[in-house]
Amino acid sequence: MNFKDYIRVIPDFPQPGIRFKDITTLLKDGAAYRAAIDEMKRLVAHHEIELIAGPEARGFVVGAPLSYALGVGFVPIRKSGKLPGETIEADYALEYGKDKLSMHKDAIRPGQKVLIADDLLATGGTIETSINLVRQLGGQIVGAAFLIELTYLEGRRKLDGIDVVSLIQYS
Ligand code: AMP
Repeated sequence: MNFKDYIRVIPDFPQPGIRFKDITTLLKDGAAYRAAIDEMKRLVAHHEIELIAGPEARGFVVGAPLSYALGVGFVPIRKSGKLPGETIEADYALEYGKDKLSMHKDAIRPGQKVLIADDLLATGGTIETSINLVRQLGGQIVGAAFLIELTYLEGRRKLDGIDVVSLIQYS
């Protein structure tokens, strides 16, 4: 399956100059969505994974079905003020904009092997921050998996030493 055919590229959203990769066109196709998650499962199969962590909101759409497919737990990484329990927080920058991410303090047991999952790797800022949060909680990052990678932004450089896999690349 050519997964790129299912991604819609919208120019100048949410800001002039950004070519937004819209995954909703893939998600609404049941066969393509399932095939994409199955393929991502294959890409991370060599890792021992105990938990998947994904940043909201599109990290949930990729990370949760992947954790179901692997039979491991999923922990949400959320914007500040959304999680009800005790949290840790970290600032982060996007390809466009700025925000704060948080996780529950008890989301990860020290030493747990964690795969990070998100829809798209752009500059790597979101994932770098997610990795910092997981590590602060004592989690061991085993890899990072993305539906899409914008290779020209070289986000994987920020993730030095981490196995980064992606299903679709834009260069
Ligand atoms: P970054 O922190 O720069 O790697 O940005 C990653 C996050 O921003 C991803 O979770 C995406 O949801 C979103 N994002 C950044 N750039 C784009 C883009 N060109 N198209 C769609 N989503 C994007």
